[in-house]
Formats: sequence, structure tokens, C-alpha cells
Amino acid sequence: MIINSINAYEEAQKVIPGGVDSPVRAFKGVGGTPIFIDKGEGAYLFDIDGNKYVDFVQSWGPLIFGHADKDIEEAVIQTAKKGLSFGAPTLLETKLASLIVDMFDGIDKVRFVSSGTEAVMSAIRLARGVTNRNDIVKFIGCYHGHSDSLLVSAGSGLATFGTPSSPGVPADLTKHTLLCEYNNIENLRRCFSDSNDIACVIIEPIAGNMGLVPASIEFLTEIRRLCDENGALLIFDEVMSGFRASIKGACGVVDIKPDIITFGKVIGAGMPVGAFAASKEIMSHLSPEGPVYQAGTLSGNPVAMAAGIASLEKLQANPSIYETLGKKAKYLVGGLKTEAQKAGIPLQTDTRGSMFGFFFCEYMPTNFAEVGKCDFARFAKFHQEMLKEGYYFACSQYEAGFICDAITYEDIDGCIEAARRVFSKL
Ligand SMILES: *Cc1c(COP(=O)(O)O)cnc(C)c1O
Repeated sequence: MIINSINAYEEAQKVIPGGVDSPVRAFKGVGGTPIFIDKGEGAYLFDIDGNKYVDFVQSWGPLIFGHADKDIEEAVIQTAKKGLSFGAPTLLETKLASLIVDMFDGIDKVRFVSSGTEAVMSAIRLARGVTNRNDIVKFIGCYHGHSDSLLVSAGSGLATFGTPSSPGVPADLTKHTLLCEYNNIENLRRCFSDSNDIACVIIEPIAGNMGLVPASIEFLTEIRRLCDENGALLIFDEVMSGFRASIKGACGVVDIKPDIITFGKVIGAGMPVGAFAASKEIMSHLSPEGPVYQAGTLSGNPVAMAAGIASLEKLQANPSIYETLGKKAKYLVGGLKTEAQKAGIPLQTDTRGSMFGFFFCEYMPTNFAEVGKCDFARFAKFHQEMLKEGYYFACSQYEAGFICDAITYEDIDGCIEAARRVFSKL
């Protein structure tokens, strides 16, 4: 029974467009009513009808320790008691920046913002400011937030100038966004021969916004080479994969060094935090050290910083957590795959650290177009039925799933059992 959620959704739609503050939450990809959350505890969500779910979304990635982790909660409460925001420096910003610099390789300085969108938008401005160039290369299916020049799509896999994928985005802005197919080296070479004004290439090195689709090592190596050869900067968007795919994010999984890294999600542990980071040379272009302007009233917010510090300190103190999380993720998708096979349903699965993905299709997709060929109707049914069984998966096949530290093998076994029942109905 989700009668309270159904009513709440109706009320919400009267005062909020579509009833939600971020479109995917509306369950359009799977149908049905989004459940309204009352509270979270560790691996579990409780909705306003009192139903309990094992949560594989974890706020779309930030909560690596699960909901309401005691240490993070305590850090937030103690910091909040001292005032919520000052618009002036605090020691907490230096502390979180130092943690990120220490834990990742090849970055000297960090600037905090309040979302992943803002982090990427600012990183691109910085790349353009540093190189004095205008064009950016973006890969189809990668999501970098909703800023104007990144909201572009293309109907084909050919290198082409981007057309806006939303009304309200002027084509004059997106004409500087060159689109390229993910994992397609030829396509990327074509971009570089089409334009000699490329400021940067931005990529999710482990894409998590078209489902989980990692970039191949050869592809990333070629991107790095082409950037170097053409004087363009390479931005790894690690808003999702940072401190998720490994303790060094994607950078710890693939041995390729980007010039700028963007962060979000885990570094805020559930509070609104984003960041971008690079060498001191690159970061010196940023205002007030340099001329590239970037600012924020609530940037480096103390309560948000405290949450991030508590989370990263726990990770730093216990790096083996990534092995444990990775094993749980593999155990989950392994179990799902076995049950799907038994039911004669083709299911492709993959994991990177605590990120996992699964697709209802015959072959593992390597780009957005291939993801588009998966069986979305079957996914929708799977999602609906698993929800009834008490398992909360991302409500779109274009989203990755997340394992949190609080989840137990019992929870996962229960999920695999439930999936067996559900697969038999698909
Ligand atoms: C979530 C995400 C963003 C956007 O972050 P918001 O905090 O939602 O603005 C950008 N890039 C990637 C890779 C993401 O996963």
C-alpha cells in the first residue's frame, strides 16, 4: 500500500512542476507513483506509508555509509549549532580540501561549490579561460549536470556540433559543444580534426548516467594523447565515480591523469557540495588569484563541509571498505544474473567498486545508442515488482546503482530471492 505517497504526489503536483524537484524522481521511466520518503536508516528507506525498502539508490550516490550514519550525523549537528553559514572562510574548507588533495593524485588545489552541475560548469569555464579557446568535447550519454552548454544531444554517432536538448538553451551556446560517441576513438579524432579551438574534453571515465558503462582503457589513453597533442585539457567528471569506484575514484581504476577533476555526491555525504580540482598552475587562473571568475554565497558551507570531512575521514581510515563494497556489488549482480539466466532472461551486469549496473539485453552496451536498444519495458516491470518486494532500485535503466557500507549479505540474498520471483513474471 502506498496510498499516502499517492496522495502526497497529487498534492505536490499542485505546487511543484511534476511534483518533483529533479525530473527522474517522477518515475516516468518506469511508471507508477514515486514513493515519498519519511526517513532512512543505514541501507533502508522508509516511506510515508511505513513500508521499508532496501535502498540501492542512496540519494543517487552520495551516501557511501548509508542513511543517517552516526559519525556524519554528529558532525553535522555539532557544526550546525555554531551557525549555518558565514560567507567567510572557515577551517573546515581547508580541511576538506586537504583531504581531497591527499587522497587523490595529481591535484594541488580544490574550489568548493554547491552541486555537481556547478562544479562542471565552473571547470569548463576554467578550461576555456586557461586555454583561451571556446569549444568543448562532450560524449553522448555522459551527464555533466544541467548547465546550458552541456545539455546537448545528437541523433547520430557522427562528430557534430551540438543542438540543445532542452528549450531555453540557445543554439549559440551549444554550438561550441562538440559531440562524440562514447568509446569511439575514430569519432574523437574527427572532432579534433574538425576544430582547432578545443579547450577541453570532458568525460565520465566510468559513465554512470547511461547505466554503468565504463570507458575502455584504449579510449581514455587516446583521449589523453589527443588532448596533449592539441593543447586541450582533459576533465574527468568524477561527481559520481569520485570516492565511489575506488578511494581515488576512476583515477584509481584507470592509470590516466586528467588535468581537472570535478567532484560532488560522496564528498558532501548527502549535503549539497561540489568541487573542482587541478594543479596549482591551472587553479591559479581562478579568481581571486587569476582572472577566471567563479563565486558562491553558500560555497564551502560549514555544515556541508563537516559532513564531507566526516565521510572522507572514515574512508581514509578504512580504505579496505572499497574491497568489501566491491565484493557486495559483485555478489548482488552475480546473483541477479544467475537468476535471470535461469528464467531465460538476458541480463548484462557490471560493477566498478560500489557502483553497479545491469541491462536487459543480449550484449553489454558500450555507448548510449546501445543502451537505448535494451528492453526498457522489461526493466520497468522489474522495477515495479522489486519495489513491491521492498527493493528500491533507480527508476531508470539509464542510472547506475549503489551499494552502501550498511547493507548486509542477508539484505542482498533477500534481493536475489525476490528477483527470482520477479524474473519468473517477466
Ligand atoms: C550527478 C552528476 C552531476 C550533477 O551533479 P548535481 O549535484 O546533480 O548537480 C554531474 N556529473 C555527473 C557525472 C553526475 O553523476
